[in-house]
Amino acid sequence: LSAEAERVLDEIEEKNVDFLRLQFTDILGTVKNVSVPADQAEKAFSEGIYFDGSSIEGFVRIQESDMRLKPDPETFATLPWRSGEDRASARLICDVINTSTGEPFEGDPRYVLKQAIERAEELGYEVNVAPEPEFFLFEEDEDGRATTKTGDAGGYFDLAPKDLASDVRRDIIYGLEEMGFEIEASHHEVAQGQHEINFEYDDVLSTADNVATFRTVVRAIAAQHDLHATFMPKPIPRINGSGMHTHMSLFEDGENAFHDEDDEFDLSGTAHSFLAGILEHAEALAAVTNPTVNSYKRLVPGYEAPVYVAWSDRNRSALIRKPAARVPGASRIEARFPDPSCNPYLAFAVLLNAGLDGIERDLDAPDPVRENIYEFDEQKRQEYGIETLPTNLGEAVDALEADEEILSALGPHIGEKFVEAKTAEFQDYLVDVSEWEIDRYLETF
Ligand code: GLU
Ligand code: MG
Ligand code: MG
Repeated sequence: LSAEAERVLDEIEEKNVDFLRLQFTDILGTVKNVSVPADQAEKAFSEGIYFDGSSIEGFVRIQESDMRLKPDPETFATLPWRSGEDRASARLICDVINTSTGEPFEGDPRYVLKQAIERAEELGYEVNVAPEPEFFLFEEDEDGRATTKTGDAGGYFDLAPKDLASDVRRDIIYGLEEMGFEIEASHHEVAQGQHEINFEYDDVLSTADNVATFRTVVRAIAAQHDLHATFMPKPIPRINGSGMHTHMSLFEDGENAFHDEDDEFDLSGTAHSFLAGILEHAEALAAVTNPTVNSYKRLVPGYEAPVYVAWSDRNRSALIRKPAARVPGASRIEARFPDPSCNPYLAFAVLLNAGLDGIERDLDAPDPVRENIYEFDEQKRQEYGIETLPTNLGEAVDALEADEEILSALGPHIGEKFVEAKTAEFQDYLVDVSEWEIDRYLETF
């Protein structure tokens, strides 16, 4: 066993861990667990834990369903909401191995991200990412079902006593910190019942693991307070939705490769090309970074979510923003379109591939747009050459299928399953009749 695995075994002993959750995600980003007694840990590290992959969304065909979970010892953490004084539960995030070949399973989203990281490494880059997931806390009804009631009159940065959910948010932050998260900031967001917790940047793989964990922790701790936490992008129409802004930078030999103090925006040529790559592939990226029917209800003008394929050093209506660096040299770009319903592994993988494609092709970024693009009319947008994001999931999936670079970043297995699942999801939506239609037409016609 590796030294790291040995250390985890000691910690399991010390903390009296009784159960281990072996965690991975399916293609849609849902966290899956296989729970094993803690005395299986050694075996889990040495040979892995076998499971039947055929029951996991989009994973495998029945006849090739034997998978093995290989825990990554770096990801060991106890679960604060399931741990008491004298015993603890813990989790380990796993890579999925194909039993018949012994190779990484290409349907594992974590593997897809590792492939993207390898591409960056070949170019000499380390990748840092910090996400800003937003979410709503809603009340549960008498049967414990989620509602869309907030019971919370707080607005942006309002303080207690108006922010009734601040207690819950505090517990969530304590829980995350116990699991090793470094929380940078948390605040009440613009909408009623809406919150944001930002965590410190980390390498892109750790950050993807963190996002997957984060959603589980937030939901679990909210539930202890009889609240339902949702990462659905737009739970309430006509108010702000929930985004997951993604800050990205590349490092080369320990130095920020996005920084150039001689540039007007503090951004290097590498950063300009990276962001140009994201703009170029934006329509296809949306299928992965904004992967639900509901995602496109958020990407509309007027609610601080981007709609237009442009970048800016000032305003929030653009797809990419260059935030002011708090520390000199900490240049980074903020992709504002992703939302927290995405699979973080796949979303970061495609963003990274788009940016690296921009670097490899030495693309030039257009000029930043400093005006509020929401206020542009069609003609002005054409003048500036500004495209719009897809307006629904169907268009986004079409764009993905037409973009060889982004589709192949997902690999053949996930690319095919993802398109298949999302096409079916959109078709199902199309044949539905919504409440809006009933309200609008039932009595009119
Ligand atoms: N909630 C907004 C969105 O949908 C973002 C607000 C902000 O700038 O933090 O992306
Ligand atoms: Mg925010
Ligand atoms: Mg932000």
